[in-house]
Amino acid sequence: MTSTLPFLPFSKPTIDEATIAAVGDVLRSGWITSGPKVQAFEALLSEYCGGRPVRTFNSGTCTMEIALRIAGIGPGDEVITTPISWVATSNVIIEVGATPVFADIDPVTRNIDLDKLEAAITPKTRAIIPVYLAGLPVDMDRLYAIADKHQLRVIEDAAQALGSSWNGKRIGAFGDFVSFSFQANKNITTGEGGALVLNSEAEAKLAEKYRLQGVTRSGVDGIDVDLVGGKYNMSDIMAAIGLGQFANIEAITAHRRALARHYFDQFGSDFEAASGAQLPVADFDNSNWHLFQIILPDLGPDTRANFMRQMAELNVGTGFHYAPIHLFTLYRERGFTEGMFPAAEKIGRLTVTLPMFYAMTLADVERAVAAVKSILVK
Ligand SMILES: *Cc1c(COP(=O)(O)O)cnc(C)c1O
Repeated sequence: MTSTLPFLPFSKPTIDEATIAAVGDVLRSGWITSGPKVQAFEALLSEYCGGRPVRTFNSGTCTMEIALRIAGIGPGDEVITTPISWVATSNVIIEVGATPVFADIDPVTRNIDLDKLEAAITPKTRAIIPVYLAGLPVDMDRLYAIADKHQLRVIEDAAQALGSSWNGKRIGAFGDFVSFSFQANKNITTGEGGALVLNSEAEAKLAEKYRLQGVTRSGVDGIDVDLVGGKYNMSDIMAAIGLGQFANIEAITAHRRALARHYFDQFGSDFEAASGAQLPVADFDNSNWHLFQIILPDLGPDTRANFMRQMAELNVGTGFHYAPIHLFTLYRERGFTEGMFPAAEKIGRLTVTLPMFYAMTLADVERAVAAVKSILVK
């Protein structure tokens, strides 16, 4: 079976003409680095997050590194996270000199298992980095109860969760540090970029220093440097894209939820039994549906590669999010091996991401589901 329809990617950014024009305005303005557009974007994000301080950066990764530095986490400290995430989540722990500790995932939500997280706490544990995979939060009440009980900082890796909520409260509007990413595939993009929600103006001032070489300015020509910062600022070019994207956040989230619902309708209630595959949690209240992921039935070591190849032949793009972090060489060198986190290892091998993006139509969903069924349902 071959398809004559154009290739359907698993993700694709949508940048409207007004946003493209706004970028042109910035380029013509004479001020293209951090300036009024960055300030306007930060103000809107702060308003969205219940008035909490928000600062923007040139990646989601550096926001987490900076949050760890603001929390004073470094050598000798342990930070607990999930093995199923983009590797940035645990690389930042190593970057600040701390020790990454993993807790296995819940095979249903595919997020960190909070019982296992609590069991992994030691006297050296200082922080937790939960990840809201595909935009589905963990049990936020339980997460913060654990953090309070053990006096731990939380750096929420909400890279995929802008637009998600927990029992009616927006992710970002409560909690400790909350990190968002605006990388090209995220629900809202600035090309590359990120934002960090902080707890106080004092933390925000510190974030500004870490963002730009540790510099503090005062008066007309006063300048001092009292810590080692990096070069992590967002430009006005990026912020102009972010402003254009953010204006559509409600419509983007609503459309993704509608696409997800249509996926479930099209797969139907007998799909899991007929195929041996596993659908995601059918949550239409909390998740922003950043990704739509199914777990394939295990047909041996080449299961996913074969499936992805067959989907590509049907002109439907797929991805995988993610390979288990603890099995990468960098982490094996730190003592992690196969068998330590069985749920993560199974899902890391069999998870596959189906198309999900704002410009996608219900007909595209039907096409993707028909392709999956033609491969998995005999
Ligand atoms: C995208 C992503 C990141 C990294 O964000 P960048 O902006 O690419 O640095 C971190 N964690 C998760 C879960 C992500 O999806």
